[in-house]
Amino acid sequence: MAVSSITFAPAKIVRALLQAGCVRRAFSFFEERAEEIDDLHAEICSIPAPPFGEERRARYLRGRLAQVEPDELELDEEGNVIALLRGRSLFPLLVLSAHIDTVFPPNTDFTVRREGRILRAPGIADDGCGLAALIALAEAIRRYEIKTKGSILFVGTVGEEGEGNLRGVRHLLLKGRWAGRIDSFISLDGAGLERITNGALGSRRFRVRFIGAGGHSWGDFGIANPIHALGRAIARLVVYPTPLRPRTSFNVGRIEGGAGVNVIAREATMDVDLRSESAEELARLTNFFHRTVAEAAAAENGARASSAPPIEFEIELIGERPGGETPAESTLVRLAREATRVFGVDPFLDRASTDANIAISMGIPAITIGVGGTSGNVHTLNEWYDPHGREEGLKRALLIALGIAGLG
Ligand SMILES: [Zn+2]
Repeated sequence: MAVSSITFAPAKIVRALLQAGCVRRAFSFFEERAEEIDDLHAEICSIPAPPFGEERRARYLRGRLAQVEPDELELDEEGNVIALLRGRSLFPLLVLSAHIDTVFPPNTDFTVRREGRILRAPGIADDGCGLAALIALAEAIRRYEIKTKGSILFVGTVGEEGEGNLRGVRHLLLKGRWAGRIDSFISLDGAGLERITNGALGSRRFRVRFIGAGGHSWGDFGIANPIHALGRAIARLVVYPTPLRPRTSFNVGRIEGGAGVNVIAREATMDVDLRSESAEELARLTNFFHRTVAEAAAAENGARASSAPPIEFEIELIGERPGGETPAESTLVRLAREATRVFGVDPFLDRASTDANIAISMGIPAITIGVGGTSGNVHTLNEWYDPHGREEGLKRALLIALGIAGLG
């Protein structure tokens, strides 16, 4: 950290930052260049970035970050874009990240439609606004020659969403050349100004596959049907009594299978997402889920004609995100709260599943914050982002980053 925990006074640090000429100039930059930031945001989000297909958007991001002439710039072997803005010394090293990928499949229309200042496109908020913020922050720091004590790595990560399973940030923190060298981590993800996500929501994701012999719906009626088994499994899962505290959830997010209305399918699959604030509750839910799948298969097999072959099932773990927490009393969280209050907003701490999960699980102080503006219909084709108030999100992020890196 830039200051020892004994003398650390977040209010004082934020006040000093607000008085620094370079910070004030960066603040005006965010206000005066609002339209340019909107244009940049629209441009980057119009480049498709489906899961495992982020290269084009990553190359664009690398090009934009090259314009600020970082001390180092690379596209790493996993596909992350990494730009180093070196301070007086390399350490402490702060990561500011946003994720390049979206949840949408390759054939999605990523065209950005604009209505006044409102931007509409899949992924425009999650995490288009984080990417726009990443570039705007790097530009402001360079343009106004903001000198820091430690250094900042600006990172566009791949694979944050869904089956990406945080592969980009895992590589960054666990395998790549920066692994073991990062002191704190801030993920810029989504809109809003109040949220400080210091809790990492643990999750497990599974693909379930029911496999049968298949046949004719009339001629072979009575043999075990994988789609019927899938239906039985879902019906069992959805009555699980999730506690409100610790908050726990399940979701069947994708189902697939079958060849036609008069065909008994050979196969049916579903992808299931299980989450809980508590590791113990997540384990309990996971056990229940395994049991529902086995029971559903047994029930379907029990109902089949005795001569027909039984269906089988496979359960594959397709994602696992560790849980944990950056303490509310940590330097990073206290600073983030103080920086949020500058804008007359009451910060609130929450818990989510984000790139910060990996850092948090490694004991690296990490948070995820929104970067201002408002959004809606996230993870749908009707996703929108309204940039009014974006400048406050950018200012807040800059204050937190500089509070950690230290003005040098
Ligand atoms: Zn996101």
